[in-house]
Amino acid sequence: MAKNTLDFSSLGEEFFSPIETQPLSSPFLIHKNQALYEQLNLSMSDADLLGVASGEQQFQSTQPIASIYAGHQFGHFVSQLGDGRSCLIGQTQGRELSLKGAGPTPYSRNADGRAVLRSSIREYLCSIAMKGLNIATTEALTLVGSETEVCREQIETGAIVLRTAPSHIRFGHFELFASRGQTKQVKRLADFVIERHYPHCQGKNRYVDFLSEVVKRTATMIAGWQAQGFSHGVMNTDNMSIVGLTIDYGPFGFLETYNPKFICNHSDHEGRYAFEQQPGIALWNLSRLTDSLGSLVTDQQAKSALDSYQTHLVEAYSKLMRKKFGLVEKDDQDNVLIGQFFEVLYKNQKDCTNSLRQLNDVDALSKDSDFSDWLVLYDKRITQEQSSNRIELMNSVNPKYILRNYLAEVAIRKAQDEKNYTEINTLFNLLSQPFGEHPDLTAYTNEAPSWAQGLEVSCSS
Ligand code: AMP
Ligand code: MG
Repeated sequence: MAKNTLDFSSLGEEFFSPIETQPLSSPFLIHKNQALYEQLNLSMSDADLLGVASGEQQFQSTQPIASIYAGHQFGHFVSQLGDGRSCLIGQTQGRELSLKGAGPTPYSRNADGRAVLRSSIREYLCSIAMKGLNIATTEALTLVGSETEVCREQIETGAIVLRTAPSHIRFGHFELFASRGQTKQVKRLADFVIERHYPHCQGKNRYVDFLSEVVKRTATMIAGWQAQGFSHGVMNTDNMSIVGLTIDYGPFGFLETYNPKFICNHSDHEGRYAFEQQPGIALWNLSRLTDSLGSLVTDQQAKSALDSYQTHLVEAYSKLMRKKFGLVEKDDQDNVLIGQFFEVLYKNQKDCTNSLRQLNDVDALSKDSDFSDWLVLYDKRITQEQSSNRIELMNSVNPKYILRNYLAEVAIRKAQDEKNYTEINTLFNLLSQPFGEHPDLTAYTNEAPSWAQGLEVSCSS
């Protein structure tokens, strides 16, 4: 059969290396995202799907490739990184397919190219959770387990997530070529991304228009993170998507007890990527992207694109927050009222998600005396509201269910210790519809039990 090609390959060989995937031993399909499978218009036998998803067989005879990039990691420039444990294996319906954990590549830097089951379960569940929350994200199609031994602090088993996205290109791809002074390659990459993902930016100011759109998409994504309490944990520029998707799920965490200084990544000793730092870090990362587009945009254009970040962020964030509080009419004091609510949460160590969801039932919330003073103000404020569907509006942005660390941990332990994967399925279904009531599953709104208080997650595993 003739070889299919990836669009990405048309960039030329400076941008990637062809690789051979290293299949897992005794692979088995743990989960498949049926809705995405249908959206991708796939029809494969289970055996073929497993073959592709475990790195055993090619997808439509496409040569797998690993791409090369650089990046700022924890603020320091690393001149060469790349797909060290992921690779592109094909594309369909405008989405690239990528395997994470299918063995080493030329960019693995002495690491094994593998991903363990534990971190793969977390990535698989978080990408559906983010999709459920309407936050732009890569989307995982399958989760495959195996008997392949992978050495971390202990011996664990290897797994592969097959993830999909319109593009897996990162800010770091641009940084690599810019840092080498390869301006032709920077231009080629920019043209490639504009043509496929920013087709409306093909006019005479194409590069600054493109940059401005990346700024806007990134700001919108960050607004979603901040509004829903998502902490990424490793916001290095090589983990920033050029099409504004949440990418590379590692030591992420959702805010449970409200704490803006929350650090989900145990290895982040300085708190560079603490929850409240994320908007500023995204702007810093956009500045690094802008630097690497220096041959295509003027300083003035770069400045104006970056200057628009704050406006987009505030606009998207306040739109979400106003909905969360059911504030349709405008009042000058709304921001103060919202701020005071979070002060109550912070002072009284309240659960962020549950407290926001309870705004849909002020009578129930008033039973908690911590909210008494604030509710006097809120009650007064909502008498100004006319709309009849306020509660529906609030419930459409205040999730009842989030991926709490302990919920993921229960699913992980069952999978690792008992080879029982039912919990993954339950969480997958629940998190794909986080705004629904799911009355049989309200136990999944419970705060972390004491055994889970000290759970720690750290970088690549
Ligand atoms: P991350 O922080 O997971 O996004 O990874 C940072 C860099 O390290 C990327 O270039 C990854 O491809 C690479 N990397 C992480 N884990 C591994 C691994 N087990 N084997 C090879 N490369 C890895
Ligand atoms: Mg990464």
